[in-house]
Amino acid sequence: MKIDISDQTKKRFEFDTKLGDDDLPVSGELSGTPGPDGLTIAGTLRRLPEQKYELVFHLGGTLIYPCSRCLDPVETQAEYDFEDIVESGAETEFDLLPFIEDCLFINEPSKILCREDCRGLCQHCGANLNYETCSCDAEAEIDPRMEALKSLL
Ligand SMILES: [Zn+2]
Ligand SMILES: [Zn+2]
Repeated sequence: MKIDISDQTKKRFEFDTKLGDDDLPVSGELSGTPGPDGLTIAGTLRRLPEQKYELVFHLGGTLIYPCSRCLDPVETQAEYDFEDIVESGAETEFDLLPFIEDCLFINEPSKILCREDCRGLCQHCGANLNYETCSCDAEAEIDPRMEALKSLL
């Protein structure tokens, strides 16, 4: 994910690269992971004065997120654009990865559902209620008045 920028006479760098699951550092901030075909990142880096760069790229591909309710993997199609004036930490190479992470982070959906009516996980036993019914059902649907009574016991 690094671009060789050591040639000071060069003003413009083009890139077209693939990002796989292994390339993403486990920063713990991203909940999505690239699908089996990876992500495509294509764009240009333009040298500006004072070690600044104009970075423009498009990120496309499949991202897999855990369902917000049942945690099952959900495939989503990502088509994100990134454009910013950035600085490079090093003078000889430009690391794309932090900006790819930024792009993914900014565009991360706040809620992902495997289906509209996902029934989620049982709060008591963790069973996936899309696939099974568990014996805590009755407990979970307890009458609120009963709940109040129970807390008195
Ligand atoms: Zn779900
Ligand atoms: Zn249960």
